[in-house]
Amino acid sequence: MTSNTTLSLSTILLLLLSELVFLDAGIQLPTPESLFKICFSDAINYSADDVVYTPDTEGYTDILLSSVNNNVFINSSSKPLILVVPTNESHVQTTVVCGKRIGIRLRIRSGGHDYEGLSYRSALKYGGPPFILLDLNRLRSVSVDSDGNEAWVDSGATLGEMYYTLAKSNPNRAFPAGFFKTVGVGGHVSGGGIGALWRMYGLASDNVVDCRLVDVHGRILDRESMGEDLFWAVRGGGGASFGVILSFKIKLVKIPDSVTICYLDRSKDPLELIHRWQYVAYMLPKEVFISVIVKTSGTGSVGVTFRCFFLGGKEKFLEILSSELPELNVGKDECLSMSWSESLQYHPDDEVYVNRTLEELLDRRPQLDISFKGKYDFVKKPIAMDGLKNMWSELSSTDQIVHMELDPSGGMMHEIAESETPYPHRSGVIYKILYLVYWGGNGRKKLEENTEWIRSFYENVMTPYVSSDPRCAYINVKDLDLGINTKVGNTGIEAFQESKVWGEKYFKGNYERLAIVKGKVDPENYFWNEQSIPPLVLA
Ligand SMILES: Cc1cc2nc3c(=O)[nH]c(=O)nc-3n(C[C@H](O)[C@H](O)[C@H](O)COP(=O)(O)OP(=O)(O)OC[C@H]3O[C@@H](n4cnc5c(N)ncnc54)[C@H](O)[C@@H]3O)c2cc1C
Repeated sequence: MTSNTTLSLSTILLLLLSELVFLDAGIQLPTPESLFKICFSDAINYSADDVVYTPDTEGYTDILLSSVNNNVFINSSSKPLILVVPTNESHVQTTVVCGKRIGIRLRIRSGGHDYEGLSYRSALKYGGPPFILLDLNRLRSVSVDSDGNEAWVDSGATLGEMYYTLAKSNPNRAFPAGFFKTVGVGGHVSGGGIGALWRMYGLASDNVVDCRLVDVHGRILDRESMGEDLFWAVRGGGGASFGVILSFKIKLVKIPDSVTICYLDRSKDPLELIHRWQYVAYMLPKEVFISVIVKTSGTGSVGVTFRCFFLGGKEKFLEILSSELPELNVGKDECLSMSWSESLQYHPDDEVYVNRTLEELLDRRPQLDISFKGKYDFVKKPIAMDGLKNMWSELSSTDQIVHMELDPSGGMMHEIAESETPYPHRSGVIYKILYLVYWGGNGRKKLEENTEWIRSFYENVMTPYVSSDPRCAYINVKDLDLGINTKVGNTGIEAFQESKVWGEKYFKGNYERLAIVKGKVDPENYFWNEQSIPPLVLA
């Protein structure tokens, strides 16, 4: 491949000659876009028109916006200079080689759900240096192997596309990953991947058995050729730092014929119940996953739903609940048993999550017409009643629309060592909290005010109750408030120290190992973004 993407001698001569002619005639030099296109077409041996887009070409804006999932970033002034939409793997290799050669960095996008939009924009104040957006949405095949126990899934596939193919292939096999159908496999799995099966089977990234990646030299590596260090890093360390992940080979897990779901509205006097839930939910059998969803109306009321999922039938689930959490007081009619694939489509009170047919899982258009800012915490000790009351008084007095998800850990998550993959939030964590503040309309208008509210809630209300030293976070809910790489392509010990501030929040002791892996595979830090891992090159 490298030889294919090396510019032919005649092209180089042509470019040099044309530069001399241009200079002589006082005409502008070829633009980076044209150099990239020449490099690209030269390597693939045909026109790059259907694959490479620039702001002046038809289709550029549609493709750019096709997977912007947070309205805040729709009108971002930071836009790609070049947009590449590969239709085969060699296009990805060529993009890396040509991008590097002309000195333009990449942003890699699979599903476009990055909380800070870093897969398609720069967050630097001045808009950052020009970049190429590599959008993988046309590389999205999912193929289950002949014995039905493993599957190769392209990064550009969405979770919905993956779930659809797996459900069609075998209703008793699944993959433990997140809830939202348009989330991309590339970003989600490389950052961890939490869903209803995580207490039973761990994270999505815990169930990856192989991976194909284009490295900084444009080579395609698999697990064997990349080695165990890099393979470790891309299973939770966030993909964008190490190369372009083409696909993951995933291990499928067993699912019984029926699963049980209940959405229990417990908005009336919920605090005693939440208090009790904290002691019980993470200790329940692995098959049980009971989350608490808290929503403010913005007009003083706070709704509380207990979202229950059980790998098994209703009778058994009710039996477990009546002995372990009788306070929930679940009525028989409040729960439904269904197949796993039906459960993927089911959500009683949220239009966005409902899929009336299995085929609706294939819809990859952005589903949320909102702007939002997210934050994350891990809880290690139950919050005392006084603390819960404190939270409640804040939530019931805000005019913000807030969504909080408290998801219990435990089960398999406590059985995996902190250093086994880059995701370290294992033993000791009893639940995690996702905080979202969201609003409709033009994203930017309310951004400052709403972001200020969530920052203040996180800092001034929640600090005493959550993990500390470091206060941990989840790379899949990226939060630039934690700190950023301020220098583009930063290297050296200063870069390592600067990024440590947020790096240890996401990865704890694994941050240093990630930086060492990065130092080996991309020492010049070509794969850079505002929260990518900096290279630590050991002497
Ligand atoms: C509405 C919504 C629901 C969510 N639900 C869940 C959930 O249930 N559970 C959960 O754990 N998380 C959830 N998330 C978080 C989600 O897992 C992360 O935002 C994830 O990184 C998104 O992946 P993506 O491919 O869609 O995003 P992208 O924006 O495309 O990518 C995210 C990051 O990964 C990098 N990246 C993407 N593809 C590649 C690749 N092929 N190679 C290398 N780097 C790559 C990008 O450059 C970027 O840094 C949700 C997010 C949203 C917005």
